[in-house]
Amino acid sequence: MIEFVDVVKSYTQGNKALNGVSMQIEDGEFCFLVGPSGSGKSTIIKLITGELKPTSGNVHVNGYSLERIRKREIPYLRRTVGVVFQDYRLISKMTVYENVAFAMRVVGAREREIKDRVPYVLELVGLSNKAGRHPGEMSGGEQQRLAIARALVNNPSMIIADEPTGNLDPQRSFEIMALLQEINNLGTTMLVVTHDQNLVKHFRKRVISINEGVVVNDGLEAFYGYEDK
Ligand code: ADP
Repeated sequence: MIEFVDVVKSYTQGNKALNGVSMQIEDGEFCFLVGPSGSGKSTIIKLITGELKPTSGNVHVNGYSLERIRKREIPYLRRTVGVVFQDYRLISKMTVYENVAFAMRVVGAREREIKDRVPYVLELVGLSNKAGRHPGEMSGGEQQRLAIARALVNNPSMIIADEPTGNLDPQRSFEIMALLQEINNLGTTMLVVTHDQNLVKHFRKRVISINEGVVVNDGLEAFYGYEDK
């Protein structure tokens, strides 16, 4: 569960990237986060992953209070949150299988668990028959599926996808979003940052709209009114 209570984040004095954000995302929800460039979306993600601390207010993520969290607790927080980026961030020298297995090794999983779990997540994202390939030998859509498999492999309760379809054509974008929806149906909470208004319209999920560091709308309809200014 994610809860923001009146969160303010200033990077420099007098400049508020977030100016009193309050919102709650329950376990199991699928939620879009939309807003123009510079509105505070990345800042929200970095607060959830513990990369940043709020200047004031409270951030609660999966039982951790981010304003109070100790440095040594941050790796445990991060295991509860899988992150997927627009640019995939795969290791080009490793195979598909190794990219996913590596994410388990760095958190100390046993080889036995790795052998059980990696094929399961590759199957889930539709890459079972590509396990021996390298990322450079795959399409953008396949690379994003791999990034999703890696985010999932340590069984996080939540996935945050930051513009996951930003580099994909409309058909591939649709397929990736359908995959994220399927993963959500299996119980993983999903927060998807996107600029793609067509996808947001098509999937009809909760949309949190932010502008200039505040939530301007929260519901089934996205609010893009700021574009008319
Ligand atoms: P978005 O992800 O929606 O594009 P950001 O969260 O990156 O927005 O940025 C929100 C505001 O905070 C912007 O005005 C941006 O210029 C400012 N900002 C972001 N990161 C920094 C930083 N490291 N130092 C100073 N200002 C920053």
